[in-house]
Amino acid sequence: MTHVFHRNPQHTLKRAVRGQGISLFDQDGRAYLDASGGAAVSCLGHGHPDVIAAIKAQLDEVAYAHSSFFTTQACEDLADFLAGEAPGDLDHVYFVSGGSEAVEAALKLARQYFVERGETERSQFIARRQSYHGNTLGALAIGGNAWRRQPFLPLLAPAHHVSPCYAYRDQLPGETEEQYAARLADELERKILEIGAERVAAFVAETVVGATAGALPPVRTYLRRIREVCDRHGVLLILDEVMSGMGRTGHLYACAEDGVAPDILAIAKGLGAGYQPIGAMLASRRVYDTIVNGSGFFQHGHTYMGHATACAAALAVQRVIRRDALLDNVLARGEQLRTRLRAVFADHPNVGDVRGRGLFVGVEFVRDRADKSVLDPALKTHARLKRQAMENGLMVYPMGGTVDGVHGDHVLLAPPFICTAADIDEIVARLDRTVRQVLPA
Ligand code: PMP
Repeated sequence: MTHVFHRNPQHTLKRAVRGQGISLFDQDGRAYLDASGGAAVSCLGHGHPDVIAAIKAQLDEVAYAHSSFFTTQACEDLADFLAGEAPGDLDHVYFVSGGSEAVEAALKLARQYFVERGETERSQFIARRQSYHGNTLGALAIGGNAWRRQPFLPLLAPAHHVSPCYAYRDQLPGETEEQYAARLADELERKILEIGAERVAAFVAETVVGATAGALPPVRTYLRRIREVCDRHGVLLILDEVMSGMGRTGHLYACAEDGVAPDILAIAKGLGAGYQPIGAMLASRRVYDTIVNGSGFFQHGHTYMGHATACAAALAVQRVIRRDALLDNVLARGEQLRTRLRAVFADHPNVGDVRGRGLFVGVEFVRDRADKSVLDPALKTHARLKRQAMENGLMVYPMGGTVDGVHGDHVLLAPPFICTAADIDEIVARLDRTVRQVLPA
């Protein structure tokens, strides 16, 4: 018996004893290729000497200093770096300890922004159906994962939902990407008007959907159309790049590729690459100035915000990514990964879609690729794929279950940015074997 109270206690988890490069090793010495970076976290792989050295150096100086008394050099340098690279005028960085905390901070900042402006009626949030923004009550309230929300519904603030941008399933025959994006923007606008624009605080979306759809990028003009609708109605745009940000798509900020800057942005996961728990919320100049020139400060905070050791780790991670030009590798290896997956699964009736950006790649499984019908949820195909992959020494992140009545079986691949062409070939070979074991064609 173990006293560790983590989810899925019925599953016997392996014990990780060592990590090196793109592999983790269990207590029996078996190696696992970390093709999902955990949950799109470990973007530098494991045991990176530069990050470890930076953490040790920070511990020798000061491990932690409470943010109401001090900042640290690492915290300031990391904020400068993130703001300097950010799209638009996302100039102000608020450090927290993970993704849910970043989203909570974003929701509260949006609300306080309107309170400071005297628009106190603006309290409503619109998000999308197939979405995940975290497990804390605010983030869960806006998320669209029915299974995660269900037991807690009486505790969740009401939120509104519109369609995600899901071209594989929802783009109509004969409809161009531009028309599809315009249709989704119209739907958002109708929802704003239905609620009453004067009551809507923000629209929240993942730039590239992660945990509910296995890396689902929007069509090219979607974010621009959405931005226009928000601007027309004085609604803030909050983008959640907890999974898709920090280089995962081949761009430090995923939305920059679409030429869009939100008013508030949430990041985490790849920011500290798993070496330390850290997330952040970036706020635009307009939002920040409204708070500072109003009541003077954001009414929020956590004990570990701006944690010195976490900031030092994240700064080292970002410096390595830049020094080693790893985003170029993300683009090249991502292209290779999608091309190879499409090739090996070209004949497989249950592989419906291979998609993504950079090294953020989703594979969607279906009963029949001709009509895109879903697999029987009772089969729990995503969970079986994960288990079988582990048997084959491969870590993939599974997603499934009921999401707003739509069942989907997906696998997310998010290998470390340091992976080589040979690593990608090995990942594809092991996934190919896994899929044919679980779903013999
Ligand atoms: N937003 C998104 C898009 C996520 O993918 C996640 C985590 N999967 C979160 C928020 C929550 O982050 P955390 O688990 O670090 O609280």
